[in-house]
Amino acid sequence: MNQVQKLLLLTGVFTINLSFTQGYKVETDKGVKYISDPMVCNGRHWTEANGKQMMNEFSQLWTDAKSWKKRANAIKDKIQNGMQWDKISQYDGQINVIKHSKKIMDGYSVENIALESFPGFFVTGNLYRPLKKQKMYPAILSPHGHLKDKRFTDYVQLRSAYLASKGAIVFAYDMVGYGESNQVRHKMPISLLIQTWNSKRVLDHLLSLSEVDPQRIGMTGGSGGGTQTFILTALDQRIKVSVPVVQVSAHFFGGCVCESGMPIHKTDNFQTNNVEIAALAAPRPMLLISNGDDWTRNTPEVEFPYIQKVYGALGKSDHVENIHLAEEKHDYGYSKRLAAYHFFSKHLKLENNQSSKKDSIDESFIKILPFEKLKVFNLENPRPLTELKNEFEVLQFLEFPTDKAPYLFYKK
Ligand SMILES: [Zn+2]
Repeated sequence: MNQVQKLLLLTGVFTINLSFTQGYKVETDKGVKYISDPMVCNGRHWTEANGKQMMNEFSQLWTDAKSWKKRANAIKDKIQNGMQWDKISQYDGQINVIKHSKKIMDGYSVENIALESFPGFFVTGNLYRPLKKQKMYPAILSPHGHLKDKRFTDYVQLRSAYLASKGAIVFAYDMVGYGESNQVRHKMPISLLIQTWNSKRVLDHLLSLSEVDPQRIGMTGGSGGGTQTFILTALDQRIKVSVPVVQVSAHFFGGCVCESGMPIHKTDNFQTNNVEIAALAAPRPMLLISNGDDWTRNTPEVEFPYIQKVYGALGKSDHVENIHLAEEKHDYGYSKRLAAYHFFSKHLKLENNQSSKKDSIDESFIKILPFEKLKVFNLENPRPLTELKNEFEVLQFLEFPTDKAPYLFYKK
């Protein structure tokens, strides 16, 4: 690297070009792209035709429950090895919790909450709770995606508040590098690992609450939130019901480093994709919500039949459903929330399952709160002095190479 490159690296300008110059050239149906690791399957790694063909090939690799379980275990191992789970899983155990500013709303409450996910690193979010007293409560993890669907936007607030008003404790939380998660950039080398670990810690926290029923734990998110949903569901049997929205695709591997920036789909002698990862949910109830405008457009013909075959082999065909909205686009809008609400009502036994109508819901009682009201950290509640200060420190703490941390003096 020459002096000019070093200077650009320090200023952050050169980050993308550096990874490109060290990358591998791959041709896709969207043109040429560059990846830094030949085992990383990112974005439109395959054409739609290739994706369909690979589903046929995958289906030849197993025939019954026993052979599927063997393949499922191998897929789970590859995910954990690919994201280097062992480097972070040693920080399991009790979680430090920061929680304040409980707001009483119409039928639910909202608190601002942060969990110390591993020493010095915080996952920030909001905890929505039903106001009506119940003996036990189901709980739902509500991660967000990359587009409009973020923790503070109406999509996430609406679904979190609605599900809370119907009896569930709901935890909505920031992706790494989004919202209040400012210790690292989103597009950093191990955001897939940290983000998955954060979800696991949110699950740990919910299950630590004595009023939460461990048999009724759900998870849902759209787009990149869908990826977080099917990955944690694959890794952790404690998720009992999952609703990944507009993301499970045979040919598309997730376009962001937080979804596919580490080699979780491929090794020298192994290949899988997100359809198979999602199928690891079986036989636990799962609803796939797809649409006609993105990489889930083929779901009824390609992705869903494969997953149905898995559920069928495990004797639970009725536990998987697909709602395909052919006229819709890539979002977690009203009709998708409607489908998710009914699926959760059915499988998590939400309080008013019997009274809710199938064709419409009323979300008008939900008041969308501004960012300032939902923030965990502010003047009265400053960020802990003990937190890791930047991406360099985070990578160093977890014993990953620090040469890919461009912001050695990362501004907060
Ligand atoms: Zn991302």
